[in-house]
Amino acid sequence: MADHQAHVTDVNSDVSDLDQKELSEALALDKWAPQLGYCEDPEEPLTADTFPSKSGGKPAWMNPEHILTAEQVTCGNCEKPMNLLVQLFTPEDEPEEAFNRTVYVFCCKNGGCIKDNWQKCFKVYRSQLPRDNPYYPPPEDDGASDDDVAIDFKAKTFEKPTECVICGLAGTKKCGRCQAVHYCSREHQMVDWNMCRHKEFCNASDPDTTLIEELRRTRLFDEKEIVSEPEGKGEDGEEEEAQAKQSGGPPSSQTNALALRGDEAYENSEVDVDQQFLKFQLRIGLYPDQVLRYERVEYDMPDREPLWVQAGQKPTIVPQCDRCGGPRTFEFQILSTLLNFLGVSHVAVDSLDWGALYVYTCKHNCPIGNDVFAPEFLWKQDFSTDGMDLKNPIKQQDL
Ligand SMILES: [Zn+2]
Ligand SMILES: [Zn+2]
Ligand SMILES: [Zn+2]
Ligand SMILES: [Zn+2]
Repeated sequence: MADHQAHVTDVNSDVSDLDQKELSEALALDKWAPQLGYCEDPEEPLTADTFPSKSGGKPAWMNPEHILTAEQVTCGNCEKPMNLLVQLFTPEDEPEEAFNRTVYVFCCKNGGCIKDNWQKCFKVYRSQLPRDNPYYPPPEDDGASDDDVAIDFKAKTFEKPTECVICGLAGTKKCGRCQAVHYCSREHQMVDWNMCRHKEFCNASDPDTTLIEELRRTRLFDEKEIVSEPEGKGEDGEEEEAQAKQSGGPPSSQTNALALRGDEAYENSEVDVDQQFLKFQLRIGLYPDQVLRYERVEYDMPDREPLWVQAGQKPTIVPQCDRCGGPRTFEFQILSTLLNFLGVSHVAVDSLDWGALYVYTCKHNCPIGNDVFAPEFLWKQDFSTDGMDLKNPIKQQDL
């Protein structure tokens, strides 16, 4: 463990002395390297019983009986329901209640809201289910179970909550005319009526369901599966490293991956470039397609620092868990590269934008009980505007 701690320090806090090759070698030796998430088109529907990790689409509710309402996921600025940004299935060995564990991140789709007051525009919730729960049979490859248990398993019968046809939050309202479609809010009822043409299709005898589904899907972020590989070890990674070595520098897509919207505003001033940003860029450049970095530590390990985008804009305090009062620790960060997969415009003045989003969760996975969802904490960093020049890739000798 002592060795490992020394090594963590090497890789995480002092990469400025390493070149890209040395960094990737150091990572290959790091047993606790972060898991990097990549977006892929889903091969199968990402339904709750597959325990998906994904971005966009409707939430796949791990607890099928109790789901979030629009009131719990409303943007504090525009007061519209937020969209699912990411959900990650992150099972843990302990406590028992976290055997199945999913973290949901919601955000307002309106980039203008986020620019005005981002702290009102994100919500994070943790959901947990023990191995023995009324909804899913125990996993088959679980050594502790014998075959009889799985065969004998009988899922609880319960009234399935109605979901909003637009966003998948609890559908507490319905169309007064046809009584057949449910909505989380008046906002989504209006969206469906106008933009998704329910005013034409309400009570229609033979509605074009494919078209309706498609129209409704466009109201959400595009749905992608998030697959993961440990940093420095994945097959993807080996390819990237080979590319990096061949070209004698960072992979060419690096500049695209980190391209800032409106970057023409930044002046070319190599002197003032934030050193933390250089570390960030070096590290991300090894695997430029990553959209997410998962770095939750085991209970007995020292806390790890996220990969900050810049030296400023760090949280001065991470609030303690609302439920147990215990500490929250860094779990994962969502990178700006995810913006390329959401199906949102990059060119609009009010387009969605961030440098990275950092999610902190209760270190001890405290029991959530009947509430089903425990709120967690998110922090946003932007790319520093201090003289960054992303049009010219940074060269090793500049570091
Ligand atoms: Zn908003
Ligand atoms: Zn809705
Ligand atoms: Zn209707
Ligand atoms: Zn807690």
